[in-house]
Amino acid sequence: MTLDVVTGGAGFIGSHLAEELLRRGRRVRVVDDFSTGRRANVPAGAELLEGDVNAVAAEAARGAEVVYHLAALPSVPRSVERPLECHRATARGTIEILAAAEKAGVRRVVVASSSSVYGDTPTLPKREDMPPRPLSPYAAAKLAAELYTRSWAALTRLETVALRFFNVYGPRQDPDSPYAAVIPIFLRSLREKRPMPVNGDGLQTRDFTYVGDVVRGLIAAGTAPGVSGRVYNLAGGRPVTILELGRALAKLAGTEAAFEHRPARAGDVKASHADGSAMRRDLGMSTDTPLEEGLRRTWEAR
Ligand code: NAD
Repeated sequence: MTLDVVTGGAGFIGSHLAEELLRRGRRVRVVDDFSTGRRANVPAGAELLEGDVNAVAAEAARGAEVVYHLAALPSVPRSVERPLECHRATARGTIEILAAAEKAGVRRVVVASSSSVYGDTPTLPKREDMPPRPLSPYAAAKLAAELYTRSWAALTRLETVALRFFNVYGPRQDPDSPYAAVIPIFLRSLREKRPMPVNGDGLQTRDFTYVGDVVRGLIAAGTAPGVSGRVYNLAGGRPVTILELGRALAKLAGTEAAFEHRPARAGDVKASHADGSAMRRDLGMSTDTPLEEGLRRTWEAR
């Protein structure tokens, strides 16, 4: 049986990916240091290699056909507070994985990048050929990871693909971290019958992408021919304001939307949504789960 590796497989997106790969009959090795992930997220049937990707990269890559590299410290505000920690996990960790994968004869490494690399470029939708303008250490580390990914594809036999995720949501997203994402925070507020906390005016837009679509995109990027060295947006392309999102969630909870506004966060961008045409063309992928449907599944999975 062929082995796939999921770094960050105890996290939100990585655990969904590991589950789907197992469902498709692959052998799966999860590599995670549990810095933000949880033991309970590692699916039954997956092999677990516990450790920092910087320390266990060689062991992680051994015998693998595809490495899905999702391990990172995924938070803009956390990276502003602790930039070196972010760099080590996100940028340096990617070099370690690429070098180990090349040495081990892995066919392809698929790396999770982020829409944050676009920064505050006013042009919408965000296209992959736009010049990146990272605003935070997190975005800078993700851009570095992309560039290393591309250089390994150019210089070695290792195939690499980087995917820019936008705002991914779905069951199992952690609401307890001090750096939690907006949907789990809103869901918890609704459950506890408190107003939903909004940074700034709530008119900032995001391209919310259901985790099941992201998992299909990752697997497509692991298998599609002729895409090595490329970077793709992986998102639906539909901008939604934070206030619209809160209203949609309140409707699911059967209540009126109530918001509590807070100061805008440093490093946050005002508007962000993807041009998904390259992903559709080259990966044969569409992120087609409607927001209402994805939110309903997330709400019901509580
Ligand atoms: P997550 O925090 O749930 O998952 C990250 C996982 O990586 C965790 O299990 C964590 O313990 C592990 N990890 C961190 N540093 C590690 C290290 N040095 N060695 C080994 N394991 C380590 O976050 P997520 O939302 O599932 O994000 C997965 C990937 O997608 C990350 O690379 C993130 O930057 C990227 N991403 C996520 C989003 C989103 O909306 N969730 C958006 C853009 C990009």
